[in-house]
Amino acid sequence: MSRLKRIRKRIQRDFFDFRMGGMYILGMAFFLITVVLILVQANVRYSIRPERLSMASKGELIRQKSSMDCFTKEEIEDDTIPNRFTEGNGTLLVLEDGEATSLKAKKIYLPVLDQMKDPYDVCEAYDFEPEMLKTHDKLILAITNYRKLGESISDIRDWVKEGGNLMIAYPPIYSGSFATLFDILGIKSSGNAAMVEGLHFNKNFMIGGISRDYEIIDAYESGISLALTEDCDVYLQSTGEYPLPLIWRRETGEGSIVFDNFGVLEKAYRGIHASAFTLLDDAYVYPVINGSAFYIDDFPSPVPEGDGKYITRDYNISISDFYSQIWWNDMYELAQKYDIDYTGLVIEDYSAQVKGKFKRNTDVNRFQYFGNMLLRSGGEIGIHGYNHMPLVLENFDYQDQYDSYVQWPGTEDMRNSLKEVFDFTGELFDQEELQVYVPPSNVLSEEGRNILTETPIRSIASVYLPTDLAYEQEFDVSAKDGIINTPRITSGTVIDEYMMIAAMSELNLHMVNTHFVHPDDVLDEDRGAALGWEKLYGNLKDYLDWLYTNCPSIRNLTGSELAAAVQRYDLCKVTREYDKEGVSLTVDNFDKEAYVMYRTNKGRSVSRVQGGSYKSVADGLYLIKCDAPRVRIDLKQEQK
Ligand SMILES: [Zn+2]
Repeated sequence: MSRLKRIRKRIQRDFFDFRMGGMYILGMAFFLITVVLILVQANVRYSIRPERLSMASKGELIRQKSSMDCFTKEEIEDDTIPNRFTEGNGTLLVLEDGEATSLKAKKIYLPVLDQMKDPYDVCEAYDFEPEMLKTHDKLILAITNYRKLGESISDIRDWVKEGGNLMIAYPPIYSGSFATLFDILGIKSSGNAAMVEGLHFNKNFMIGGISRDYEIIDAYESGISLALTEDCDVYLQSTGEYPLPLIWRRETGEGSIVFDNFGVLEKAYRGIHASAFTLLDDAYVYPVINGSAFYIDDFPSPVPEGDGKYITRDYNISISDFYSQIWWNDMYELAQKYDIDYTGLVIEDYSAQVKGKFKRNTDVNRFQYFGNMLLRSGGEIGIHGYNHMPLVLENFDYQDQYDSYVQWPGTEDMRNSLKEVFDFTGELFDQEELQVYVPPSNVLSEEGRNILTETPIRSIASVYLPTDLAYEQEFDVSAKDGIINTPRITSGTVIDEYMMIAAMSELNLHMVNTHFVHPDDVLDEDRGAALGWEKLYGNLKDYLDWLYTNCPSIRNLTGSELAAAVQRYDLCKVTREYDKEGVSLTVDNFDKEAYVMYRTNKGRSVSRVQGGSYKSVADGLYLIKCDAPRVRIDLKQEQK
């Protein structure tokens, strides 16, 4: 029922009561007050906002996701090389059994290729047969020892010259076999492994790439020093006095090669390797999410406990006053400036209670004040927990971290605590559906997750990048329970170089930004409290400036809208038919909209899109919004 209908129904009901009661004057006054209250409340609760993207039912999500053929998390993470030759077209990925770097590459390329939704096969180096090239147009060699390919090396050379597209996924060990590829790779001579301390983009091929140089934290010898022929197009090189070429493209005969000489094969850098892959051939299309969401953990919540000494130092007011007078005003201003709709995650009580009856927090002023401000600014409220105890049972090993955390004795206790926080928020924000869950301290167990599936929660937003105890996720729909995973990539108000690389990488791989802050960053020295709020706030502003300057096309979403966008991204199947004039796309499981990236590698630009629209997001990179399941992208005529 729409809000208007609801209001109308209440008005009708009140009007009916009044007639039956016969107390006309009192009734009329009461009626008017009711109408005014409803209108005021309606005004407080909602600003004007376009209809939200909606999620399909859990059952539908499970059905659609189960029909998709992708590698499971376990298959991606174990140390075996899958042998798949079912697709028989598209890309062929070659990996090397028992070789540490190749296994790291497996963990990058299997998810990337799955997520790009383009057919591909996988085999082990010893199983590679030149015959396989006949049905594939792209070959990714993610191996260290090229001698394992034996005589097949010369077949690969011939295949590239005849129109094949070869990617070298990471710098291998020097061998005679590898050197036989040098002429097609454009390598004049090769030297030793060398340090890569930073990234410098020579070309504007990735969103946010040329905006700055990116420092590699914990740098090591992750590239090899090489001299290239003049006809190599270098897209990325290392910083420093003697830069290494890190990503280059070269055309040879009818085909193309891409060399990825940047050997840091970690999730935070995945978008860089994926972007290198899209430089193969003349053009490439891959689906993206197109969404940016900001989460405020522990908000609203009781006044955070912590050391307010820096607040006293800088403002000389109480912690509580700081949040209402300074912090929220600043956060609100930021939201206004960039049109951000925050998702705040409620904590009802900072207690350590994990069993018994969960007491209602009756001190609701702060919740109402901040909650309504959040909603009025267009934001959304989700659940962080009754308290800040992660949903883990006594079988969970905290590995001596989080000394103050108490484990839950049983799943029934977790269930009761969630019931309490849902009842509590249901009373305070009765028109809000709380569908997003952020696990406290990013810790969550399978048992905890199972309990969450019994609640209105549709989306879990834990973390994207792996850290020891954290519950790590991909942007996807879970076939098991229909929950949509919308992990948060970056965090805090001290945004280091690692986070900046991860942010840039993800703008290109998924066109997504997910950042979270804690109101108590300003109380916690580990999160930069000593710098003072003004500096921390400045950092946050700088990050947002960087984001929206480099990626103005990204759309702002709340947590549940992002989940709906992830649903469309993860469940779509894209069929591409490339030709000389452009590409025709068919999007299966299309639901109102889909977004794809279109990369052109021959310097040609898009002239029109039928069934959608386009925006240029970097040189040769276009964001395409598909408004229909069939889309035609045409390129401008090639310059003669
Ligand atoms: Zn928290």
